[in-house]
Amino acid sequence: MADLHKLTISELTEQLASGTCTSVDIVNDVLASIDATDGKVGAYLTIDREDALAQAKAADEARAAGSQLPMLGIPVAIKDLLNVKGQPCTCSSKILEGYIAPYDATVIAKLREAGAVLLGRVNMDEFAMGSSTENAALGKTSNPWNLDHVPGGSSGGSAACVAADEAIASLGSDTGGSIRQPAAFCGCVGVKPTYGRVSRYGLTAFASSLDQIGPLTKTVKDSAILLEVLCGHDKMDSSSIEMDVPAFAKNLSNGTSLAGMKLGLPKEYFVVGMDPEVEQSVRDAVEHCKSLGAEIIDVSLPNAKYAIAVYYIIATAEASANLARFDGIRYGMRIDGKDPIELYGKTRAAGFGSEVKRRIILGTYVLSSGYYDAYYLRAQKVRTLIRDDFTEAFKQCDAILSPVTPTPAYKLGEKSDDPLKMYLDDILTTPINLAGNCALSLPCGFASNGMPIGLQIIGDAFQEETILKVGHAFEQTTEWHKKRPSL
Ligand code: GLN
Repeated sequence: MADLHKLTISELTEQLASGTCTSVDIVNDVLASIDATDGKVGAYLTIDREDALAQAKAADEARAAGSQLPMLGIPVAIKDLLNVKGQPCTCSSKILEGYIAPYDATVIAKLREAGAVLLGRVNMDEFAMGSSTENAALGKTSNPWNLDHVPGGSSGGSAACVAADEAIASLGSDTGGSIRQPAAFCGCVGVKPTYGRVSRYGLTAFASSLDQIGPLTKTVKDSAILLEVLCGHDKMDSSSIEMDVPAFAKNLSNGTSLAGMKLGLPKEYFVVGMDPEVEQSVRDAVEHCKSLGAEIIDVSLPNAKYAIAVYYIIATAEASANLARFDGIRYGMRIDGKDPIELYGKTRAAGFGSEVKRRIILGTYVLSSGYYDAYYLRAQKVRTLIRDDFTEAFKQCDAILSPVTPTPAYKLGEKSDDPLKMYLDDILTTPINLAGNCALSLPCGFASNGMPIGLQIIGDAFQEETILKVGHAFEQTTEWHKKRPSL
């Protein structure tokens, strides 16, 4: 095995352009890496070996004919809630076993247009509900840095495969932190784009007013390259915004100065119970940004403390409606009954896992007559206050720095019996989805037990360029992203 699987999108693109390797070489190398490590990590649900090699061959032919597409010949793994025509799309749920996607999600079509090679689909919490990938019904995924630890979730497979060099990059989705938190837990880079930046067409909906698809990569520059491919208006998603896509990758200057930039530090984000090593790493990262010329400003996000309560009302309410479609009639599993009602009940009872059921019941409750005003409507009002906090803060600064999670990755099984404990860990990521802003997670240190720690860079709506710039400058002047797990 050459070491092509260890390289980044930009490094491989240079090698492909200069002819020192082919896409077939890269895919063969990545497949060998999967064979060597995925037995331990468990990132993949399905690997499309032959198809990937055929796509790689086509990419090599296109390059020989002069094509210079941005992702040409680069293998990417896909979170298993995105529809890829002709392939399963299980959402790691038993209820979707046997379902074959009849069309490509818009982001998949965009990846194909950009020349990427689709490698296979990776594990996740069932229907993206969870923070550890332990709610997956179809596989178990470990953190490549320590196989006894969780990879984070819900895009646990997407983060683990990139960290373990089993894919050059991957796609994830983020409703309340599901790209940023696993990126932080596995030591890679992840971006939650602004709501409306990336089309959700073909993404299996969890909470439609919060969901966004985004990249997980080894470097900030790679995230910029991939994000640029994913973004853009789509008439198939009425919430996707009609706005030009900036040249994210090209606009990343090689300069490492943050002079003239104001970075906000929200005091409410250093929460009680935060792991001291996480706090220290993030405070060191803030000092580092200061040394690059940034001015650090105290900002306040006073309503952030309500984010968990608001998120778990709105997300479950939307999920209860979105998941009504999995009724045994149209998709996947069916368990017959004497009438349709019995069929629905039996199929849903057998097909959904316990966390998904918990959320459907919770969401149905907060939407039910008599409770709608008390819970759902109030949550929507507080959501506006949370968004207003960010609007105020961004009058004073260009981006906000914070931890991604209160702790590094914990052990498998440590929190799986206590959903509330698991929910509370989403305190620092959910406010961004509720506000609709963008945020990036990148490595900024390691805990004494060897687990990675992430820095969150939060931007105002449609300010992806700003957070990528700050992240790139940080990354260029630190070594954290260069460390790899030994598997
Ligand atoms: N951990 C959060 C949840 O369980 C976020 C999930 C996500 O972003 N998909 O809902």
